[in-house]
Amino acid sequence: IEKRIIMDKAAVNRSLTRIAHEIIEKNKGVEDIIIVGIYRRGVSLAERIVKRIKEIEGKDIKMGKLDITLYRDDLTTLGDQPIVRGTEIPFDIVGKKIILVDDVLYTGRTVRAALDAVMDLGRPELIQLAILVDRGHRELPIRADFVGKNIPTSKNEVINVKLEEVEGVDEVILGEA
Ligand code: 5GP
Ligand code: MG
Repeated sequence: IEKRIIMDKAAVNRSLTRIAHEIIEKNKGVEDIIIVGIYRRGVSLAERIVKRIKEIEGKDIKMGKLDITLYRDDLTTLGDQPIVRGTEIPFDIVGKKIILVDDVLYTGRTVRAALDAVMDLGRPELIQLAILVDRGHRELPIRADFVGKNIPTSKNEVINVKLEEVEGVDEVILGEA
């Protein structure tokens, strides 16, 4: 099976730095922003974005976590339901700007579940989405505000996202399911 390295460590770093800048620019600063990572890799990416924003703006950003699992035999089986297993957002989100962070955007079903979970907590001013890799094949009208890289895939391909916090290396690989 042929595998192609799409992003190396430097590319992942540059993407996250750019996304941090874009978040600051789009929101005209970081007032009222809460970054919410979706387990597992979305949480690591969210932590890195929070760190970048601190370096750029000198401000601490609140961070939350969502545990959402997709019950899917493999990543090519569509139509399965994402289950929200836990919500760690111990702040008042009313009137806040929520930025969801995940590693890969595919059908959009996980993000839809995340939107529901956040809005169950109260009415934020807005919700935005930051994604490391958009691999296409949306089944819902959902798009990301901040994208590391668009990687068009066929449905029998998968994006293998490796992060230092989880796999000990930063690498994005296009492979077969
Ligand atoms: P969706 O709900 O948009 O169909 O799928 C997105 C969720 O499934 C994300 O949380 C993501 O981690 C995972 N996912 C979907 N496709 C892929 C993929 O090709 N590679 C990886 N690493 N995760 C995927
Ligand atoms: Mg995931």
